[in-house]
Amino acid sequence: NADAAMYRAKEFGRDNFQFYAPEFNTRAHEKFVLQEDLRNALARLEFTLFYQPQVDLRSGHVFAVEALIRWNHPTRGMLAPTAFIPTAEETSLIVPIGDWVLHEACRQNKAWQDAGLPPMTVCVNVSTRQFREKNLIGRVADALNVSGLEARYLELEVTESLIMQDIDLAVATMNQLQNLGVQISIDDFGTGYSSLSALKTFPVARLKIDKSFINDIAADENDQAVASAVISLGQNLNLRVIAEGVETDDQVAFLRKNNCDEMQGYHFSEPVSAPDIEKMLSGEPMD
Ligand code: C2E
Ligand code: MG
Ligand code: MG
Ligand code: MG
Repeated sequence: NADAAMYRAKEFGRDNFQFYAPEFNTRAHEKFVLQEDLRNALARLEFTLFYQPQVDLRSGHVFAVEALIRWNHPTRGMLAPTAFIPTAEETSLIVPIGDWVLHEACRQNKAWQDAGLPPMTVCVNVSTRQFREKNLIGRVADALNVSGLEARYLELEVTESLIMQDIDLAVATMNQLQNLGVQISIDDFGTGYSSLSALKTFPVARLKIDKSFINDIAADENDQAVASAVISLGQNLNLRVIAEGVETDDQVAFLRKNNCDEMQGYHFSEPVSAPDIEKMLSGEPMD
């Protein structure tokens, strides 16, 4: 631990230690603490899922929600996934955490259906480590069985870069998932250099245009070119296309004009708690 490291650093020479070791120790210590906290977080039920609506551009209806994990940390408050998912991934804690996310998202979606909300899809992010886990298919099937959710109401989001790390493995796994009846979408599309010939063979239903291309879409001609190319690509390959990170009227106008099917972003709603989704969906369609 950090104290032992400091003790050893002292033995090796006062000068070096004073120059850089304190910073190293602080960082190593912080990481150690984060790992320990993460190990306890599942048992202490500190995770929660927020949900962000995905809206059909033509009808304005919410047809899906993306589940996004939050960590209600006992001393640090609500943490975004970027603060802990990388560490969870490094330590393999992402596997049990990912299982929890799958079970919770399926349970919640089934509860919404049972409460009489119009059936919608719940989208769950899957990380590299989780995707490579031997029994991924069994784990997904288990979440469906336990919750009673029909497979077609679950969608898994895998990033384009994850797929590209090992295309053959990814396609085999995605095929098995598709056989189970779940849908698959490619997250952060446009950032991972898919070859177009490979894309044709992916058993996916949707492309999610990465928000880095959406940010300046009202003004930046390069971003406009990328976004409209992805939209046409989707149309030609018979895939739906959703834009993520949509915040402004101008972005909506561009996407509408270019026949994008679906949108997700702060313009419609930030990710919100499950009760807030219920309130939102018992009201009017969003525009
Ligand atoms: P992602 O899957 O690409 O999710 C979209 C992220 O963009 C979310 O951040 C969302 O809150 C944010 N976002 C949505 N609309 C807007 C917008 O209009 N403007 C801006 N600036 N941002 C917007 P979040 O919730 O912090 O999640 C970050 C990333 O963490 C996710 O990116 C995903 O890769 C990962 N993640 C989240 N939940 C899970 C999970 O349960 N499991 C795994 N493995 N990864 C997760
Ligand atoms: Mg996602
Ligand atoms: Mg994304
Ligand atoms: Mg992203």
